[in-house]
Amino acid sequence: SQVHGDTTVGSATHCPYCALQCGMYVANGEITPREDIPANAGGLCQKGWTAAELLTSPERITTPLLHGKPVTWEEALDYTAGRLRAIRAEHGPDAVAVFGGGGLTNEKAYQLGKFARVALRTSQIDYNGRFCMSSAAAAVNRAFGMDRGLPFPITDIGRADAVLLAGGNVAETMPPFVRHLTAMRSRGGRLVVIDPRLTQTARLADLHLQATPGTDLALALGLLHIAVAEGHADLGYLAARTTGFEAVRASVSAWWPERVERVTGVPVAQMREAVRILGEAGRAMILTGRGAEQHAKGTDTVTAFVNLALTLGLPGREGSGYGCVTGQGNGQGGREHGQKADQLPGYRKIDDPAARAHVAAVWGVDPADLPGPGRSAYELLDALGTPEGPRALLLFGSNPVVSAPRAGHVTERLAALDLLVVADFVLSETAAMADVVLPTTQWAEESGTMTNLEGRVLLRRQAAAPPPGARSDLRILGGLAERLGCGEKFPADPRTVFDELRRASAGGIADYSGITYERIAAETGVFWPCPATETAPEAGPHPGTPRPFLDRFATPDGRARMVPVDHRPPAEDVDEEFPLYLTSGRVLAHYQSGAQTRRIRSLNQVASEVFVEVHPDLAERLNVAPGDRVRVRSRRGAAEAVARVNASIRPDTVFMPFHWEGVNLLTNPALDPMSRMPEFKVCAAALERCTGE
Ligand code: SF4
Repeated sequence: SQVHGDTTVGSATHCPYCALQCGMYVANGEITPREDIPANAGGLCQKGWTAAELLTSPERITTPLLHGKPVTWEEALDYTAGRLRAIRAEHGPDAVAVFGGGGLTNEKAYQLGKFARVALRTSQIDYNGRFCMSSAAAAVNRAFGMDRGLPFPITDIGRADAVLLAGGNVAETMPPFVRHLTAMRSRGGRLVVIDPRLTQTARLADLHLQATPGTDLALALGLLHIAVAEGHADLGYLAARTTGFEAVRASVSAWWPERVERVTGVPVAQMREAVRILGEAGRAMILTGRGAEQHAKGTDTVTAFVNLALTLGLPGREGSGYGCVTGQGNGQGGREHGQKADQLPGYRKIDDPAARAHVAAVWGVDPADLPGPGRSAYELLDALGTPEGPRALLLFGSNPVVSAPRAGHVTERLAALDLLVVADFVLSETAAMADVVLPTTQWAEESGTMTNLEGRVLLRRQAAAPPPGARSDLRILGGLAERLGCGEKFPADPRTVFDELRRASAGGIADYSGITYERIAAETGVFWPCPATETAPEAGPHPGTPRPFLDRFATPDGRARMVPVDHRPPAEDVDEEFPLYLTSGRVLAHYQSGAQTRRIRSLNQVASEVFVEVHPDLAERLNVAPGDRVRVRSRRGAAEAVARVNASIRPDTVFMPFHWEGVNLLTNPALDPMSRMPEFKVCAAALERCTGE
């Protein structure tokens, strides 16, 4: 399927959506799944099957807009660069901010970080991945010295004897993932799911722990307490491969099972059964998703699950381990190449002098000229248009009007800007507010690399011609850089950018220097770290690292660090005025803010509007019938939705999907102190039936 031997062009590509990055062929508007990509091995979900409709959507924008009016690219870029220069001259470089996305290719994520620091010289850059898995990243960086979502091939899940999945609904978010759980169960393996709802995934489980929202940390401490008390701690492993177990053991002694039952609502017998399943399995895995991670204590919650995994002796053993099930398409790669406020390419820390010197040399700038760390995503959005905050924002691959916490407030901040520039291929809710809209090409119309949830670097090939008028994000950045006086540093060709990314990442934690487009094409992906081996060519190319922790963890002494953590209530607990827990998540038919999937007819037919899931007991108490319009309120706002009454949710909890404007008007932006993750997954709310309207 290659044209003229060019590896970047051809029908074999990958889905535009989630972190599974299912392999697919796209030809003449038809999609067929690829068998050669292990993550999906011939499967797709309905989002993937219908993704080609995005390419020909009548809602595509193909002409730049300036204050809502069509203009030429020259006019749009000249205006934008002129305003950026003027705002910077008046208020300083940090008056211009950049916001990226976890769906951007590695090349774009890299170029965006470089553009902010080199072309704009601003420290004010972050991205929506901060809202995705940043707390899990912080926890595993602390424990293992390296953050790679699944530090093992996804097919290892099928070889495990038990899996505990905390706060992930993969049967809806990424259905082909289920085949790996099914493979595990068909060999006699057992699945345990922690979720406040009886989700499609929980229905597959042998054991479902229906914890109160915001109590996963207490539950993990309780499971660890039982594991130690019942002799499942792997003392040989703990002595050889970890530090800190004694302090962790002491810290969980107060979390006896009955106390944990009172906090979480999970019966002691179920906790004991979960520990027995994990403890007696030859190979076991503990996985977390957003349900456990999107909390103001998300880092500590994941740390508690990592401590449990380490106590059982799982990480760094083949077929076992801890992993974070990353959500966004390039959630993994997006956090490795420098679009995060505190990071430089190669997953380097921006305040590390050696990292700054290395990256500055690749970029051809003085390390002293590189800005330091900036604000995290919510703090950045919260500061927009304030006297101390940025006056201008360039936004790529994100739709914060729908997806940010306390979204009504964020919308006000966006409206207060002197300049909002949005690059997108549809007029998202955020793009509709912009002074300048720059129409982009999309997934199958351009080439680039994506790093899936396993840390496997994949090649998205260009499989369709873009419509006239649309430009790639890389070309847009190049056009702006040219007008800002540094165009030569910002090429538009993805392969050229990737080759520079390889050099910038060399020697870092996420080392891509040995990965080439040709290798990815020949090997159906390459796992990082994969250093170049020019210094010892006789050894052959580095094979990549499917399981990075088999011999040692990436800490200075090679041991995993166990850190004691303690439970605390949600940042906002229920009370008389707001007596319900509100939680959020996804439905099968839609992806993230819905900017893409809500524009696909067949997906909209399946799920066309926002709803709220209510337990029958609660519905009866509030006089709500199925299909009624209800109003859900929190301290931050109110949203209307259609009531769905079913017993799959806890009676003290209501659930709303986040693909429409609604639930994020209500969510709490309380931040995790370590990762700056907002508390998306629990806040206090009230619900009432809408009357009269
Ligand atoms: Fe696969 Fe995710 Fe795309 Fe569905 S949305 S086809 S699970 S990559």
